[in-house]
Amino acid sequence: MRPTIAFFTDPAQAQPRIRYVLDALEHHPHAPDHLQCLLNPATAPPDSVICYYGTTGNAPENAVLIPAQRVFFVAQPTVRQSVVCNRYDFEGRSVYAVAPRSASPGQPFFAGGAFGFDWLETLFFHLSRWEEYASAPQETDDIGMMKSSAQLLPRHKLHHIPVVDHLVAAILQALGFSPAQRPTTFSLSHDVDDLLVFGPGFRLLRYLGGVALRHRSLRRWPRIVSDYRRVNSGRMSDPGDTFDWLLRLGPAVEKTIYFGVENHSPYDHFPDLNSPGLLEVRETARALGYQAGIHPSFNTWKNTDLFRQERRKAETWLGAPVLKSRQHYLHFAFPETADVLEAAGMQEDATLGFRDRIGFRAGTGFPFHLYCFQSERPYRWVEKPLVAMDCGLVREGGGNPQEVLRIWTDFIAQNREGTAVSLNLHNTYPYEQALHGIDFRALFGQVLSQQKESV
Ligand SMILES: [Zn+2]
Repeated sequence: MRPTIAFFTDPAQAQPRIRYVLDALEHHPHAPDHLQCLLNPATAPPDSVICYYGTTGNAPENAVLIPAQRVFFVAQPTVRQSVVCNRYDFEGRSVYAVAPRSASPGQPFFAGGAFGFDWLETLFFHLSRWEEYASAPQETDDIGMMKSSAQLLPRHKLHHIPVVDHLVAAILQALGFSPAQRPTTFSLSHDVDDLLVFGPGFRLLRYLGGVALRHRSLRRWPRIVSDYRRVNSGRMSDPGDTFDWLLRLGPAVEKTIYFGVENHSPYDHFPDLNSPGLLEVRETARALGYQAGIHPSFNTWKNTDLFRQERRKAETWLGAPVLKSRQHYLHFAFPETADVLEAAGMQEDATLGFRDRIGFRAGTGFPFHLYCFQSERPYRWVEKPLVAMDCGLVREGGGNPQEVLRIWTDFIAQNREGTAVSLNLHNTYPYEQALHGIDFRALFGQVLSQQKESV
């Protein structure tokens, strides 16, 4: 018999949004095989777990109560709503509610046949990316997106914890299922932004200024100037050509390489598609089992025609359909970019991570669907969250090698189980970092090699 949870609600509740959350629960990797979540069935099948979602006191006998909060299911995300994370206790573990007001910490998550908070709305808030629809001007960064420091999870220092994945495990356990706790899996990806460090358009003084700013040190200037001269005189190969080791780093459960194909703004400097170096990268990646996706240029985020044009070009160049994509600069607007991906018929986007830190932007490391508020239904394509990008890790550590190592070691140690971590490592990035003692070949290589036993 299929494991079944039957949910009963007041007819007035927002059925499409509830159904969206129940779909996410059914398909979550922690759920038992073939779990079905029924919403207001005529009768609950025998042996099903019965839940009532609504007002305290209205729950039928033998039903588990989920108290309805009525915030995120009744409004539109364009109406600004200040929210906080409240901590609850479940068998010595912490789970977190998203609510308009603070509650005293450490209350039980589940007691006496009732849940302590509305976890349906909490899951909805995180997965729909509710807060990113209406950031205030002071919460918006230089490229028009919500600053990570203004988002709920970083504000509560919870972005290193997959709060959605932990919450799903607790819900299932409270309802009598034993969620499978599996070792965390790692996937690897690269965005080919530039082929070379000292390539066309490289400006030495600007680069040296950037290095000084990022690492608050001038110590590496002589070495960089010397490398620049040696590369220009042909005595050294460009340090951005790291593909020999980059594409062989592993193992990973999945490897993807994203190619940018057109330049339309000062933010884009993708290499010429006919350059021998890039053609070699394409062939090597293919031979090593990489999947290929598109890295749409900066301006595609609100431009379906431009997105389609670039995608067609990528398909011609790759000789295969392109179904995966990651926005350049992680440039993603709600709902415009989601709508662009939907209109273009993409299968997967891998943009939703942080640019200036690592962690779980939507509270989960696993693929999920965003929610289309205009049509009150999930988007058809899947979001595969980006969890750790090379430059995000360095920025979170303020460019300090010891701090970067500490953050990374702690992050891996606290996430050994129960989630998925997608890494993004650029080919040109390790050069500058290695000069400052941040060795991505070791940092990312080590976690990938440790999962050898589990893959
Ligand atoms: Zn990029």
